[in-house]
Amino acid sequence: MIFILWKIYSKQNADVIVLNEEEFKKYLRAGEIASKVMKEIIRIVRPGMLLIEIAEKAENMIRELGGEPAFPINISIGNEAAHYTPLINDLKKIPESGVVKIDLGVHVDGYIADMARSIDLDGRYRTLVDAVDDVLNKILINVKPGISAKEIGRIAETYARRYGFKTVRNLSGHMLDRYVLHAGYNIPNYPDPLAIWRLKNNNAYAIEPFLTTGSGIVSEDKNIVSIYSLKKTKFKTGDKKIGSIIKIIEERFKGLPFCGRWLKDLDVDLDIENMLRSLYKEGVLYGYPLLSDLPGSQVSQAEDTIVIYENQVFVTTRR
Ligand code: MN
Ligand code: MN
Repeated sequence: MIFILWKIYSKQNADVIVLNEEEFKKYLRAGEIASKVMKEIIRIVRPGMLLIEIAEKAENMIRELGGEPAFPINISIGNEAAHYTPLINDLKKIPESGVVKIDLGVHVDGYIADMARSIDLDGRYRTLVDAVDDVLNKILINVKPGISAKEIGRIAETYARRYGFKTVRNLSGHMLDRYVLHAGYNIPNYPDPLAIWRLKNNNAYAIEPFLTTGSGIVSEDKNIVSIYSLKKTKFKTGDKKIGSIIKIIEERFKGLPFCGRWLKDLDVDLDIENMLRSLYKEGVLYGYPLLSDLPGSQVSQAEDTIVIYENQVFVTTRR
């Protein structure tokens, strides 16, 4: 999952966060699970496959390996950059051509691995996919404690341009924290002069360049929302049924994003997707609308999670 770049950067991380060995190992375990699942998903994705089949396979595999999905798997196609997960009874299929982005999250006791890869379905967009992998590699080679977020953005943009592509400017990487997917600090995909904060020991970060043949700016389609999270503000309702569902959402997902498919087991005579949509419109739930570049363009993404522990960088999703 990604972060819509807001023009807000905190000055510096004031609180000293200490990461103990047990917590560090949970980050590593989450990364290991994410990378295993990703390998398997890349192996099975084919034109004509139902997106829901891929989603269920990935999320079940995460649970079988001892993790929990940290957010619903994002399967984004062509000019879609992120934030589409199959709905209950979704009939959407993998097309014959284009770039498919698989973005999956795993957590172990709240410690998150966030990882994405792109698949070129028929060879037409090979350069776009290879380029984003290379851009991410260039960042990972250079990342060290103390590097500024702006410098990471500079590397991303420099290498993207060498391949003749733009980066998506309003999507960014982010800091991770326990049960927090977007812990406030963004890592831009261009050298944003405001991104002066530096990566620090004992923290985890998701680094995720996006390349595009389109405009380099994605926009939200508020009519297509398949991923939600509970707003932090307490919600009071006179409707007992809705109240109890919100309580379940709170306990089950602990503030992390979720989707309708994950509430299918609820014994309610309601259309779950409709219910979530109206709770989103009423402002009870936060929604993550589909993010797309211009029609006809193609977007590629690559993402890994790093943890800086004892002043060393560990790429948790590549072990
Ligand atoms: Mn992410
Ligand atoms: Mn992600």
